[in-house]
Amino acid sequence: MQLTTPISELSQVGVATAKKLARLSITTAGDLLWHLPRRYDDFSERVRIEDLELDQKVNLVGEIQMIGNKRTHRSRMHITEALIADDTDVLRVIWFNQPFITKALKIGDQVSLAGKITEDFAGLVMISPSYERLNAGQAIHTQGLVPVYDLTAELSAKQVRSLVKQVLPLAHIISSALPSSIQNKYQLITLAEALKQIHFPTSQLELESARNRIAFEELFILQLRSQLARLQAKSHDALIVAFAEQDTKELVATLPFTLTEDQRRSAWEIIQGLGQAKPMLRLLEGDVGTGKTVVALLAMLNVARAGYQSALMAPTELLATQHYETLTRLASTTDLRIALLTRTQWRLNIASEKLSKAKLIKIIASGGADIILGTHALIQEQVTFNNLDFVVIDEQHRFGVEQRRALMAKSSSTTMPHLLSMTATPIPRSLTLALYDDLDISIIKTKPKGRPAIITKIVEEPDRNKAYDYIATQIKAGRQAFIICPLIDPSDILGARSVTEEYERLSQSVFRDFSVGLLHGKLKPRDKDSLMSKFAAGEINILVATSVIEVGIDVPNAVIMMIENADRFGLAQLHQYRGRVGRGEHQSYCFLMTDSSDDKARQRLNALLEHDNGFDLAKADLQFRGPGEVYGSVQSGFPELKIASLFDFELMKKAKEAAQTILTESSDLSLYPDLKNKLGETADAHLE
Ligand code: ADP
Ligand code: MG
Repeated sequence: MQLTTPISELSQVGVATAKKLARLSITTAGDLLWHLPRRYDDFSERVRIEDLELDQKVNLVGEIQMIGNKRTHRSRMHITEALIADDTDVLRVIWFNQPFITKALKIGDQVSLAGKITEDFAGLVMISPSYERLNAGQAIHTQGLVPVYDLTAELSAKQVRSLVKQVLPLAHIISSALPSSIQNKYQLITLAEALKQIHFPTSQLELESARNRIAFEELFILQLRSQLARLQAKSHDALIVAFAEQDTKELVATLPFTLTEDQRRSAWEIIQGLGQAKPMLRLLEGDVGTGKTVVALLAMLNVARAGYQSALMAPTELLATQHYETLTRLASTTDLRIALLTRTQWRLNIASEKLSKAKLIKIIASGGADIILGTHALIQEQVTFNNLDFVVIDEQHRFGVEQRRALMAKSSSTTMPHLLSMTATPIPRSLTLALYDDLDISIIKTKPKGRPAIITKIVEEPDRNKAYDYIATQIKAGRQAFIICPLIDPSDILGARSVTEEYERLSQSVFRDFSVGLLHGKLKPRDKDSLMSKFAAGEINILVATSVIEVGIDVPNAVIMMIENADRFGLAQLHQYRGRVGRGEHQSYCFLMTDSSDDKARQRLNALLEHDNGFDLAKADLQFRGPGEVYGSVQSGFPELKIASLFDFELMKKAKEAAQTILTESSDLSLYPDLKNKLGETADAHLE
């Protein structure tokens, strides 16, 4: 067997099993080896039957004295009953709806059982324990620390464990990218040992050292990648953008508002970065509504004055269009040529007639636009720039590294563009430092003044109508409202509200007198946009929407955000929704609708009542859900780590130091071909 051996060649893997494994992206023996347990059931405690106590979670070993199936009359349920004996006593065991067990276990068999001891009318009993016969070698399902795999795609835990057991010998031929000098210096065990121990640890201590070893390598690679990327970026030249002081002041003076202190400072930091001969790599971090877009505009103005182009990429059509509308308005006193390029829209603020896609692409390529706004459409092959020198990524966590890189690659071949990534996802400072090394960061902490704080309320079913009455009052006063539901279509299984159903109900009865709109991701981009424009223009009073609304929509006249099944959403997401209101001078409200009686859900929602800034909420969210869920997902743009935690600073520090050591020795990794190989293509892509 090799690491590359197809999974179908293992014993016990038929077509059906192979298919299920493929769903977990496991197609080779090596993949299986890297399918790591998420947690472990602790059955280290082996107990004699006479010593069993109620509620104990134990492993016990004994002989089957009796086993048989029966069916209950009323519920027609299969029940398998057995008696297990050891030297000390006999215990009853019951399994529900697994009649096949009588085929696997026979009278006289030595078995190992793992489960919880409960009690019924006839005394102590073990209900539906995991089981395995002991004549077939070492127990892997019922004794010691038993691995539990997170995703099993309909495979039983037992199947997965047995399959992993089969490929475990391969651990010895797997090669580690971690240089042995580093392994020795930090006293780590070998990868082979670590892999064996992480799947089937014989003690908590063994498990610790295995996790530590694998986590170290992950963080080391992460650090190496980011340090290398920075080294490489800084080895390029960038076009220098001189500070256009006069024009910048003029634009600032004509804005319909005064910039906040944080906006001024951030803009200044960015403009200074643009003035360097080395590419700027900067993150602009600011909670929703803090006004990041205008900061980007000031920077892009400077780039235009220096004679270069800027591109701003946003994650959705809606957002790109909105940026186009806002920026053309804010820049109306300048002669900036602003273009919008999405899948369905081709616009240029100075054009008098409608443009075709081909025409707009030509204009951009020949330098006829200074600021090019768009979606992923910007990275299509046909799109080229005349002299792109500044790339702005809005909501950077929505984009992959590759997409960012693709846009940056559209600048000239001899220089590298300056990069500004904007995000509303608050990343704790300590984390950015650990992760992103010396990436430059500008932070906008304070929101523009003169906006009353949003009043947030948890609303339970009995008060639903009061909430509707309140919405009606606000609409009569000329304001607008959002209503968010988790689902598009009704679903019995998920038991949550859907936009189609709510839309029907609200538009036909509750809000019959008002204009109600329905927005969801299945609509055509054009329909979505026209709906949003109507809402922005005040022609629609109430917008019933799914999560498509989440990012960046800006309608200052909307003052109510009602979120159905609020307990189904993460805090960060709820905070994003809430950020859609409170953008004008009117008092705004956020109604968190819930029918959940779960205490934890309730506490989570309470955090939104207590905190109104994303940084504090992120902290609270971390306590409820753990970093994996908050930061670990692909969506949030954080690297996928199997084992390591981004919050393990001690280990991160060591990994960082190790990466520095290696890069000092060999800045292009030529001394470490394995490492170089492992980093591969992406080595120069990780620009943040
Ligand atoms: P975000 O940081 O969430 O991207 P936006 O850039 O969309 O925020 O700005 C939100 C709203 O605040 C916009 O309507 C914008 O015009 C407005 N805005 C930006 N800066 C200020 C300011 N200093 N004072 C008042 N309103 C501002
Ligand atoms: Mg924004």
